[in-house]
Order: sequence, then structure tokens, then C-alpha cells
Amino acid sequence: MTKHVLIIGAGIIGASIAWHLARAGARVTVLDAGAPGGAATRNSWAWINASWGNPEPYFRLRLRSMAAWRRLEKDVPAIKVNWAGGLLWDLPQDELEAYAREHGAWGYGIRRVDRAEAARIEPQLRNPPDLALHVAEEGSVEPLPAAEALLAAAIGLGAEIVAPRAVLALRERNGRVTAVETSAGALEAEEVVVAAGAGTAKLTAGLDFAPPLDAPPGLLISSRPHARLLNGLVMSPCLHVRQTATGCLLAGADFGGSDPGGEAERAARELFETMRGMLKDGNALEYSHHTVGFRPMPGDGYPIIGRVPTIDGLYLAVMHSGITLAPVVGMFAAEEILDGRRDPLLKPYGPERFAAK
Ligand SMILES: Cc1cc2nc3c(=O)[nH]c(=O)nc-3n(C[C@H](O)[C@H](O)[C@H](O)COP(=O)(O)OP(=O)(O)OC[C@H]3O[C@@H](n4cnc5c(N)ncnc54)[C@H](O)[C@@H]3O)c2cc1C
Repeated sequence: MTKHVLIIGAGIIGASIAWHLARAGARVTVLDAGAPGGAATRNSWAWINASWGNPEPYFRLRLRSMAAWRRLEKDVPAIKVNWAGGLLWDLPQDELEAYAREHGAWGYGIRRVDRAEAARIEPQLRNPPDLALHVAEEGSVEPLPAAEALLAAAIGLGAEIVAPRAVLALRERNGRVTAVETSAGALEAEEVVVAAGAGTAKLTAGLDFAPPLDAPPGLLISSRPHARLLNGLVMSPCLHVRQTATGCLLAGADFGGSDPGGEAERAARELFETMRGMLKDGNALEYSHHTVGFRPMPGDGYPIIGRVPTIDGLYLAVMHSGITLAPVVGMFAAEEILDGRRDPLLKPYGPERFAAK
């Protein structure tokens, strides 16, 4: 019998789970309190990577998702990933070297480049670094169009997107979630997936299982569209910047953006001047706007993906790096929800790790 799965959240994570479930034959309903396409998702820098700072199991999950993005591009042709590569030197030299050695040994396509080659890769850099690392297999995607493309493809497979429709609470009976209370009445489902990003904490607050979640702000700035200045992603010590599909330069103090405090417009203008200074033709750039997105951040920084141990019928999918991880999360979640098969790569990321504490 076809399983009915209700997904709360139509950001990139909910959209990917919806498409993978619908493709596998499930009956899918997605609810979102706002416009389909997500909250963090539309304000994301959207670098697809398995870069530094992560232990090997997390690197492996990310790498698998990079491959899954390539498969998703074929399955959903409206999705366009820009596999233009990343040039990175936002670490002290010894740490850059250590990152290159470690990730190189793990099989990441990482290459040391000198100043002349950095200038060849990104000729607009005013002051290319003496040493940088280049990963040709990294990319970026325009996150809102990608989420919308997944939702449209899910609808094409029979999924229903209901928005705006806020979920006010999960209805639990005898240790099982049986329905959700919405702004327009209750909806029943055999399985409920919470892919509500920063809104997850509010939904799990009333349960006896509530994983620690934070939602730090991240400021990004955008120029008006401009003729091509950058080829790929640039991760310098003072700024991470890429050029979008529509020609806008999109930058943050780093990919996750900075906390602008109460002065976002001033911080945005300062960042914009830094970006102009980095590029030979930077003065030709015009400021467009800034965004402050709230990054869904589990307490230990790693994704929470899986069934809640003490409550049947409830699956959580909340994480940072959701742009990188969306394809693999959608694929693995659908397998687990429909077939009960949990991919070994997900082992460290189950909700139960918080229950155990
Ligand atoms: C500034 C910034 C930079 C980032 N850079 C990167 C990057 O370079 N690479 C990368 O991989 N990741 C990056 N991230 C993280 C990434 O964007 C997020 O992990 C990802 O977008 C999360 O997607 P999501 O679908 O879980 O959440 P969201 O996009 O936030 O979607 C959640 C949806 O749930 C809905 N919702 C919430 N509560 C309810 C409710 N009660 N009822 C109904 N609907 C509800 C919301 O309306 C929203 O649409 C960045 C994030 C930010 C903010």
C-alpha cells in the first residue's frame, strides 16, 4: 500500500525528500508556513563542497552528496549546478598544507596552486595568494531555483505542496505521531518528516525528545548583475565570494555569513567595499542588497537525520550545509522511510545521539 508521508518545510531539504519519496512511489504532502523554497535556503551562499574542518565520516557524507548532485542534475534537468571549482586560502599556511595532505589522502581532488596559477584561475584577483588550494570538483547552485525545481518535479510525480500553511503542533498519541495541527485544521499521516530548518525547535519543544538546535544569523551581500568577473568560488581570508547565474556577486565574511548584530546595513556596506577592493574591476560593481539568513544548526554542528527514538512515525532532517547535503539526505531519507534501510553513512547523525546524553 502507498505510504502517506507529510513533510513540514519546503526548503531544499524538504523539497529533496519530497522528490525522492514521490519518485519511489510514496504519497507526499509538503506543508510550509511561508512561500515554497525555504527560509535559510533562499539566503544561502550555496557552496557545494566537502572542504576543511570536518572529520572523515562527515567528509564522506558530503562527498557522496556532491556525487548525488550530479545524478540529480540529470534526473531533474531544471537544476543547474555550476561546477566551476573553488579557490581557497582562508587558513594559515601550515593549516592549508595539513588540509591538502589530509583531504588529498581521503581522495578529494585538491591541488596546491601558486600565485601565478591562482591569477590564471581568477584573473580578477587584485592580490592573488602565494599559496592556495583549488578543488575543481566543487560547485554552487542557485538555491531557491533548485528547491523550486525539486518541488515542481515532485508535483509532477503527484506530490501536493500546501503553502502557506503553518504547522502549529505535532499530535502525539501513545508514543506515536499520528497527525499535525495546522492553521487550517488537523492533517493525518502515516509518517511525519520535520524538515523545518530553524523552525524545527518550536515543533519539537513540546515532545519528550527535543534535540539542541540553534539558528545563528548569517549576513550576505549582493551586487547588481555584472559582466562575468569570477570563474568559480573564491574563499579568501577576508571574504568568500562567487558570481551567481544571474551575474550578481554574492559574498559573506565567510560562506555562512557573519552576525551583523543590530547594524546589518552598515556591516553590509563595509563588506561590499572589501569585495570591491579584492577585484581589479571591483569599482564598477554596484551594491544591490543584503540578506540575513538563519542557519539551522544542531547543537554539535552535525546534521540530525533519522527517526526519533522514542516517538514512532517521526523523522527529523535538520542541518547546516543543507545545500551540499540535500541530494544525499533526500535519497537516504526516502530509503529509510519506505524500506527501513538506513545507509551506513548516516550512522553518526541519528537523533538518538542526543537522547543518549
Ligand atoms: C548565510 C548562509 C550561508 C550558507 N551557506 C551555505 C553553503 O555555502 N553551503 C551549504 O551547504 N549550506 C549553506 N548554508 C546552510 C543551508 O542554506 C541550510 O542548511 C539549508 O538551506 C537548510 O535547508 P532547510 O530546507 O532545512 O531549511 P529552510 O530553507 O529554512 O526551510 C525550512 C522551511 O520550513 C518552514 N517551516 C518552519 N517551521 C514551520 C512550521 N511550523 N510549519 C510549516 N512550515 C515551517 C519554513 O517556512 C521554511 O520554508 C548557509 C545558510 C546561510 C543562512
